[in-house]
Amino acid sequence: MRHRKTRSMITQFCTALAGSVLAAGCFAQDAPTRNVQMEDAKPGISDSGYDLTPPTEEEKKELLAKLTPEQIRITQKAGTEAAFCGTLLDNKKEGIYVCVVCGLPLFDSDDKFTSGTGWPSFTKTFDPSHVVGKVDTSYGMVRTEIVCGRCGSHLGHVFEDGPPPTGMRFCLNSESLTFIEKGEELPENSKPMKAEEAFFAGGCFWGVEYGFAQLPGVLSATSGYQNGETEDPDYRAVCSGETGHAESVRVRFDPDRIDYETLVRFFFEIHDPTTLNRQGPDVGTQYRSGIYTASPEQARIAVKVVKDVARSDEFKDRTIVTEIEPTGKFTQAEDYHQDYVVRTGRTCHPGIGTAVAKYQRMLDRQPERVVSPSE
Ligand code: FE
Repeated sequence: MRHRKTRSMITQFCTALAGSVLAAGCFAQDAPTRNVQMEDAKPGISDSGYDLTPPTEEEKKELLAKLTPEQIRITQKAGTEAAFCGTLLDNKKEGIYVCVVCGLPLFDSDDKFTSGTGWPSFTKTFDPSHVVGKVDTSYGMVRTEIVCGRCGSHLGHVFEDGPPPTGMRFCLNSESLTFIEKGEELPENSKPMKAEEAFFAGGCFWGVEYGFAQLPGVLSATSGYQNGETEDPDYRAVCSGETGHAESVRVRFDPDRIDYETLVRFFFEIHDPTTLNRQGPDVGTQYRSGIYTASPEQARIAVKVVKDVARSDEFKDRTIVTEIEPTGKFTQAEDYHQDYVVRTGRTCHPGIGTAVAKYQRMLDRQPERVVSPSE
């Protein structure tokens, strides 16, 4: 009984404070936070394999219908719960914290710490693209608001006064989060997409990325550098030819919709596998032909396809020089290399449009985009 009364007093205290604490919320600083992905981030598949496509208006309406008025106030109207009153403030269990609206994983219990501010605090996000920063100039301060990277719901703010190793303090409202304890079954909207990865190097990555991105069942294609000898290469270093990296493309695909063998066969239709360290006018080891396999099964399939291709009429008098190696570290290339063909209309692999159309037909879907005749 005494316990219930104490709780009731706390509830009243919290209710009285709620809505009036934002100005002081999370001990604001005067500068917006860097090191957080800001709101121009593009939707897509996150590195941890989650679909970041925002819910439609209709879907959002359904999601919001399940929330309490307090959760609506905080997540949809940038509200703040009273300090020391959130239900997850003292939660020390192992698990993940997901968006209360759309279920996207946002934080991991491993990164939670006691900040003393009265709000659940974390040093980093579950995935950098799952939490997005927005400049917030309300209450005469410049702060960085954080919102869900999928549905845009308000979560809290982030500051650069956190503990090591990141020095960041993500300051959350408990009401913006749902906690899922380790071992509990994840709800559907908190699960990553079913995806496998494949890696292909076939000369300049712009065209290779474009080609794979057009195939039904491919969830994302990303340009990068792979199987080299230095950590964290950039374009300039790779262009020198001294780092040993190949320009390659990471393909994430749904194995229920397209299989690995089809991807490998497509790869041999969009580049010339017989020119050593060269693709058209691009010369250098970074332009070599390579398949970097993520499993022994992928290696087995890649070897089989190469044998088939080598026996075909097109290649029986030429030598295929494609290397098949286990997947080494893949480093995503700079943003200006991503979606290059779509953004600029320029490409580097002649005939790619024909191959794309053929595979789209074969995979039972109409072409999504008309490829320019120059391709
Ligand atoms: Fe969300």
